[in-house]
Amino acid sequence: MFVTDLIKLFLPNLGVKCQHEKISPDMEQGYCPDCGKLIKNEWYITRCSCCGVKMKAMVKGGEIVPQHHFCGNCGSEKFKVEKLDQINFIDINFAALVKSEVDECSRPFTTTCWQERTIEQPKLLVQYL
Ligand SMILES: [Zn+2]
Ligand SMILES: [Zn+2]
Repeated sequence: MFVTDLIKLFLPNLGVKCQHEKISPDMEQGYCPDCGKLIKNEWYITRCSCCGVKMKAMVKGGEIVPQHHFCGNCGSEKFKVEKLDQINFIDINFAALVKSEVDECSRPFTTTCWQERTIEQPKLLVQYL
């Protein structure tokens, strides 16, 4: 880890939502060097719920939606969202990538979670790191 990354870890990022840009799509999960959270890459596709063809997915307002309103095959506007266990070369053209934060509260021996909701976050973070 570079020194600059370490410095970033200590900087308060209140009010700024980290986009976890350094987590590359080809890894399954990893710790974001910008915010220190464990990030999991999740892939989703949308499918027409009428005829079942894949529809190109995108993330809009935090939700997975098809890029086109209507199915190019049957004209239906109904769709369903499917989570992919693994991304492959075919699905990558249809899939939307969601970088979800893994809730570390569910892991034993971590004390970081409650601190995030306090106003004194930066100070406490430094203390615990
Ligand atoms: Zn991040
Ligand atoms: Zn259809």
